Amino acid sequence: MVVTVKSMSSADGGRVRPGFRHGGGTVKGFVHKDQFPRPNLNDSLEGEIQAFLTDEDQLHTYDDLTKVNPVTPTTVLKCLQARYNARVFYTHAGCTLVALNPFQPIPDLYSVDVMKEYHCAPQPQELKPHIFIVAEEAYRNVQGQLEPVNQSLVVSGESGAGKTWTSRCLMKYYATVAASSSVVKSQDIVGRIERRVLDSNPIMEAFGNACTLRNNNSSRFGKYIQLQLDRSQLLVGASVQTYLLEKTRVACQPANERNFHIYYQMIKGATDEQRKDWKMPCGQHFVWLPNAEKTVEEDCFHETVEAMVHLGINAERQREIFRILAGILQLGNVNFSPSTDESQPCNLEEQSKDFLQRAAELFSIPTEELQLALRVRTLKAGKQSVLKPCSQTECSMRRDCLAKVIYAQLFEWLVAFINNSICADKSMWCNFIGILDVYGFECFQLNNLEQLCINYANEKLQQHFVAHYLRAQQEEYVSEGLQWSFVKYQDNQSCLDLIEGSTVSVFSLLNEESRLNRASDCKMFRVRLEKELCDNVNISWDKFSKVPHFTVAHYAGKVNYQIQGMVEKNKDPVPPELNSLLQKSDNSLLHQIFTDKETDNMTSKGLSKVTVVSKFKNSLESLMKILHTTTPHYTRCIKPNHDCKPLTFKKEEVIMQLEACGIVETIHISAAGFPIRIPFTSFLQRYGLIAKYSNFQSESDCANLESDNQGLQQEVEKVLRVVLQNQDVDLSHCLDSDKHNSW
Ligand code: ATP
Ligand code: MG
Repeated sequence: MVVTVKSMSSADGGRVRPGFRHGGGTVKGFVHKDQFPRPNLNDSLEGEIQAFLTDEDQLHTYDDLTKVNPVTPTTVLKCLQARYNARVFYTHAGCTLVALNPFQPIPDLYSVDVMKEYHCAPQPQELKPHIFIVAEEAYRNVQGQLEPVNQSLVVSGESGAGKTWTSRCLMKYYATVAASSSVVKSQDIVGRIERRVLDSNPIMEAFGNACTLRNNNSSRFGKYIQLQLDRSQLLVGASVQTYLLEKTRVACQPANERNFHIYYQMIKGATDEQRKDWKMPCGQHFVWLPNAEKTVEEDCFHETVEAMVHLGINAERQREIFRILAGILQLGNVNFSPSTDESQPCNLEEQSKDFLQRAAELFSIPTEELQLALRVRTLKAGKQSVLKPCSQTECSMRRDCLAKVIYAQLFEWLVAFINNSICADKSMWCNFIGILDVYGFECFQLNNLEQLCINYANEKLQQHFVAHYLRAQQEEYVSEGLQWSFVKYQDNQSCLDLIEGSTVSVFSLLNEESRLNRASDCKMFRVRLEKELCDNVNISWDKFSKVPHFTVAHYAGKVNYQIQGMVEKNKDPVPPELNSLLQKSDNSLLHQIFTDKETDNMTSKGLSKVTVVSKFKNSLESLMKILHTTTPHYTRCIKPNHDCKPLTFKKEEVIMQLEACGIVETIHISAAGFPIRIPFTSFLQRYGLIAKYSNFQSESDCANLESDNQGLQQEVEKVLRVVLQNQDVDLSHCLDSDKHNSW
């Protein structure tokens, strides 16, 4: 039995965290919101609200935003700002945790002692808001009441908001509180599973993160890691699923941004011997290595290598990996000049010859063949092959394509290797806690297929959040037999239909154009979008714009997507000559990753039968299926300022993020419902004496519960009265009937 209470006197110290689902007991009774209405400025509680609004000294004490009254973007913002200024970075927002990025290390905030404090607390939710509350809540929920329930921790926020940091904290928490190695008293640190699980982070971050304008350590891929727990809830393994690595970065870095960290780590951390082996002499300029002078993250080469060793990547394999990476860098310095004779392939620039030769050596493939594969296209007509020289632009595209496909395949191989190393046998684990760290909503001046996919993923997650949270909550009210008028939530299904719908949608038209593979595919794509989606309110066009684009109205705002290049990106072609050349490599890793690559997945024109958006949609659908089977916990990371500076809270920037993730709406919903849920017995035990109960279980239990808080006392009396009036709940045996009548 549970009493749910609309917000009590607002800053009562939060003895019960609203929205926290207590482990015990079936939820059977609620106080209805109409019986305990939410105060507004016009009712008798006006004074209290005014007090809230003016008593700014106390704002930082509101550890749950559902207690803020009234809930408006301004009050929520003020409260978060007050907390930030008071160096309090976590705040509950009903079912969600808001995490403000401090942009500076906070001593002892994540220490093992703090982990233990939250882990051992009988009621962690009574401690200060912290990411460890979310972690612990999920950990306890895994056990479930009747059967174990898998959990998902969904961490969202814009670039630089702190998703990866938070995910790392969560992983460290479980590696500490659920460490299995202590049980077997393993002295072999390398062999420890929790060590290996944590070691997957530096490797994936080295290969998948880069310094961007928004974040010095920006993840350029999405990640869902499942931490596998055995029957005793010990961590016995993990598996990682990654999404959409931004592979274009390896061959094209946006202005003032950098390539993936691993390159800078290699340059800075390599020994002379390694530099020689990788053909990377000191002072050598590499086109694909811009902004090397910025000193971020590259001191970690030894950490990356050490993690590789822990995961079982031996020295020989490491050498192969680094030679492949070095080969890609050499490719970036290869340029072509146009041929005077159109029937001849374009030429290699004189100074590029050495770079091409070094690239071929590092890839362990014949130089001549590499040169040919970059400059000449082989067209197949039946059993006959026709050679067609490539233009200068085509040659550069083939060079970039080669770099991208090698890097992406290498990354995929690494992830598979990590999985092999950390994944426990299915017989060893029974539950998991999944941590999702995916790119946040993106809106740049120019957006293309990458942003469309990223924003589509965010639409999916937002739909999951809204549907799960509201449905679950409202279904619970119905099952309790409460008079509840359904709160309608903003449904983004129409936007999702526009993007992914199976009949006519942006993705379906994009895929059709990609399959037709016609010369003017972008023009046709634009024509078809405008014709076939003209009635859809979620899409619009500016016909007079110089850059052809379409605009999608996402839940988080409108985004313009550039049409140019979108179809080509979706096809993601890899010239078949390049594929077969790499299969011949004497570098056994390169040979392996290109032989394993499903060649039968390619058409004869080098096009993948599965387009980028189809592949992404499928992987996202699998993820959503998993999420639907788990109990989700949401953490919204907020970036207090775009300059990544500590002690700086920019209101305009924060409010935009709050709006984009719909946090104010979420608080409204939490606050409009029954945010505080307390089992009836606990409620009576805690507050019974205040309401002058007698004949109630053991009075001595209640002896210490007296409160001198008049406001609280009145609130409690109101609630108890409603509890007693509730037809479904017979608590009369708990009462002294005379006193009851005298209320
Ligand atoms: P992206 O989407 O670009 O990958 P992100 O949301 O994953 O961004 P992080 O890389 O986690 O962002 O965080 C950016 C930086 O902010 C971190 O490198 C770190 O310096 C700082 N940071 C984040 N959270 C915290 C924290 N809780 N305490 C101290 N510093 C933090
Ligand atoms: Mg990240």
